[in-house]
Parts: sequence; C-alpha cells; structure tokens
Amino acid sequence: MFHLLSHTKHIILFNSRKLLPKCRHLRSSILSKNGRFLSTHVELTSVKHPEILRGSYSKLSDKDLAVFESILTSSRCITDSADLEFCNTDWMKIYRGASCLMLLPKTTSEVSEILSYCNERNLAVVPQGGNTGLVGGSIPVFDEIVISTRLMNNIISLDKVSGKGQGFEMVLADGRVLDCMNSLKKNNTGYDLKQLFIGSEGTLGIITKVSISCPQKPNNVNVALLGCNSFSDVLKIFTITKQKLAEILSAFEFIDAESMKVVTQNLKLSSPIGKYPFYVLIETSGSNGNHDEEKINVLLEDLMQTGTVTDGTLAGDMTQMKNLWCLRERISESLLKDGYCYKYDLSLCLSKFYDLVVDVRKRTAPIPNTRVVGYGHVGDSNLHLNLTSPEYNDELQNLIEPYVFDYVAELKGSISAEHGIGLHKVKYLHHSQSHLSVELMKQMKKLLDPCGILNPYKMFP
Ligand SMILES: Cc1cc2nc3c(=O)[nH]c(=O)nc-3n(C[C@H](O)[C@H](O)[C@H](O)COP(=O)(O)OP(=O)(O)OC[C@H]3O[C@@H](n4cnc5c(N)ncnc54)[C@H](O)[C@@H]3O)c2cc1C
Repeated sequence: MFHLLSHTKHIILFNSRKLLPKCRHLRSSILSKNGRFLSTHVELTSVKHPEILRGSYSKLSDKDLAVFESILTSSRCITDSADLEFCNTDWMKIYRGASCLMLLPKTTSEVSEILSYCNERNLAVVPQGGNTGLVGGSIPVFDEIVISTRLMNNIISLDKVSGKGQGFEMVLADGRVLDCMNSLKKNNTGYDLKQLFIGSEGTLGIITKVSISCPQKPNNVNVALLGCNSFSDVLKIFTITKQKLAEILSAFEFIDAESMKVVTQNLKLSSPIGKYPFYVLIETSGSNGNHDEEKINVLLEDLMQTGTVTDGTLAGDMTQMKNLWCLRERISESLLKDGYCYKYDLSLCLSKFYDLVVDVRKRTAPIPNTRVVGYGHVGDSNLHLNLTSPEYNDELQNLIEPYVFDYVAELKGSISAEHGIGLHKVKYLHHSQSHLSVELMKQMKKLLDPCGILNPYKMFP
C-alpha cells in the first residue's frame, strides 16, 4: 500500500532500513579474489561444437607478429596466455576461444593497416569491444586474432546545440575506410549505408568512430516499483500508464516473482515492497518536477483505485532510484550464480508475451533444479526468458531449443530483440528473417569480405 506524504517532494518514502546496497561493477562477478579472470573451467567452443570446422585460414606466424608489432609496438600486441583469458571467454562463461593474439589499436589508420595485412595473409579476426555480448559474438571459435577497441575510447567532440545525429566510420576487411560520420539529421542522398552495417556484429567491418544523438539530461526523473497479481494486470498498468504519463514515460519494465527471488537471494538485495507474482518498474523523465509528480500521483491513485496495483513505492532520491533499478538490471548477473544460464532475448506481441514463460516452466518441470524466469522491457515488447541449472544439461537444452525459437517464429516475433545472432543463434537466423533476406545478407558479406576473415562462424548458418 502507498504511504501518502503529499507535502513532501515525493508521495512515497522508502523505509530507510530497507535501502538496497549500491550497484557493484558488473565485472566483479567474473573475477577471482585476486582480481584475475577465471576461465579454465569453460569448455573450448571448438570442442563443444565439433560440427564447426576451422576455415582454411592461415596460422599466425612469428613474421605476422613482427608485422603487428611494427604497426602497434609490442606492448599493444598481447600474447601472454593469462592476459588473453579475458578476451577468449565471454561474460556468461559459455564460450571459450583459443586466440594467441589480441591487438590493441588506438587509431583508425592502425586498424586499417592491421585489416589490410590480415586480408592479404588470410588471417581471421574477431572485433571485440567491452566483451559483454551474450551470444558468443565477440569470442574467437578457434585461433582468430582478437582486435580489441578498448583503447579507442576518446570523446572526440560534443555538440551541445544539435545533440548530433547518428553516424560512424568503419574499416572494411581490405583496410579501406568508409566514412559515414555525416551526422546530419536529414540527408536523402542515395542508399543510407550506415543502416546496412547496424546489426552486422563485426562481420562486415570494424567500427572505429561513432556519432550518437544525445538527448538533454532530463531535469526531473522519477522511479516507482509496483506489485501486482497477474500478467494481465501488468498489461493494464502499461495501458493506463501510457495514457496518464504520456511524453514523460521513459521506461516500463516488468519482473516476475522468480526473477525477483533470484536477484534478491543470489545478490542479497532486498525489495522495498512485499512479495507479488509480478512487479513493474516505471521511470519518468521530464523537465518540470511539479508537473511530472502531479501526473504520477494521478496515475498511482488511479492504479490503486482500480485494484491493478496492490503495493508500490516511489523513490525519494537518486540512491533509492538506483537501488530500484538494480533489482531489474542485476537479474542477469544474479542468474549466473545458479550455475549455467540459458538466455533468450525475444520480441513478442504483448498479448502472448508471458505465455511462453509459463509454457517453458511446464515443459521443463520434470528436470530438477531448473529455474525459469521472465523479465524485460514491456515498453519495447522485449522478453528476457532465462533458465538456469547447476551445470550445463543436454536434456534441458534439447527441451528448450529449438522449441523456444519455433514458438517465437510461429508468432512472427524475433529470436533476438537486442543481443544479436553471434554464435548462439546461427542455426535460427531464418526463424526471424526470410530466405531471401538471409541470401541478400550473405551476398553483401561476400561483396565486402570476400575472404571471410571478419568474425567467421558467426551470424550465418
Ligand atoms: C548484464 C548485462 C546486461 C545487458 N543489458 C542489455 C540491454 O539492456 N540491452 C541491450 O541491448 N543489450 C544488453 N546486454 C547485451 C549487450 O549486447 C552488450 O552488453 C553490449 O551492447 C555489447 O557491447 P560490447 O562492447 O561489450 O560488445 P562485444 O561483446 O565486445 O561485441 C559484441 C559484438 O559486436 C562486435 N563488435 C565489437 N566491437 C566492434 C567494432 N568496433 N566494430 C564492429 N563490430 C564490433 C563483436 O565482434 C561481437 O559480434 C547486456 C549484457 C550484460 C552482460
């Protein structure tokens, strides 16, 4: 139940004893006590997937290494096996490659020289950024060279007036530099090439600069966590919230009871409200505090009166907002503590959104120690369906794949709302793309990377 303190800035105040700990850095979960990354227990991808055969790429030689050292200096050519552990293993500890070299370029021309040489020598490469991808896209399968952009992290300029449009610069497989940095908001001059490269996951080139459109930081942000009894109530709350908050609604997320259980138990966080089958996190971003709060008050009153929400809380300050967001954003991290995680990131029509979670729960019930959770961005029709088991279980894997992907294809959803195809979904690309689309994508790949050196084994069956 909401505690109404209408004379304060916010109508709900947290019980200070229940405040949640601050978000810790995500990578802490994959570091050992002495700070080293541990990956030796992760099976090599090439062993786990014997059906993937190494392409006929050249093997890295001492002469190649000398060339890379002449481009970058030896300090930016990493060959030490302990140092290579992080770039050879993914965030979820599911994929492990056997790269013997990570290159750390700092400039576009260095990337260009590296790719031009690799193309000539037929050396396969994997572009890597933060290595937080969840589909194995940034990890070598065999001995591909990792080209990490971690040192290319400079902010070149900020345009406070226009906020800038979107554009990028990309180095193609043969080293040519494609400049799509023109960040004009309107530019109708032929094909919009940058759209072609979005979603290419390092298979068409290496992005070396980006221009992003930055909205102004909002003056007023509010975050509320609500509890409700059914998924149909979640959808009712969504409909009413869109009506009542309109332009200030900036996030609408849902968390099911099992997701709340795993994030609170495994990470020792606490929820400031009671236990409910479903939770909704609403965020507003606006320019006028009084106006926004009035809107939220009207919404919350309405939701309470109609009985769609039985309990809720509104953050009173930045720390409380962060703590509420942690309950949603740290679910992924908390699941890893169960053991092995099977991740599905799906777009589905909202009317069928949660049925899949219920269905998968029933289907996997005979397998002991299986956890099935559903959470995600209702506002984007994006469901994160995740399962965990103490360790990888073939029987469980076969129960959920291709079942989940078939289910989604049947409903004309997407098998990847935001995580991409990587290695995980290679076999299922055609579940969300027509045969003609996949054929055209393959032709583009052939045109731009004829030797196939860029991120091989990913994306295409
Ligand atoms: C806890 C957690 C929460 C997440 N939440 C979200 C979320 O809310 N929304 C969301 O969309 N995603 C989310 N993700 C997944 C998301 O895809 C990644 O976290 C992030 O976007 C990947 O960026 P990265 O730099 O780590 O890419 P990487 O993992 O390094 O690479 C991802 C892919 O891009 C390619 N690539 C990398 N750099 C380049 C480059 N310079 N040029 C060309 N290709 C390149 C790689 O080869 C690979 O195929 C989450 C991940 C984690 C771990």
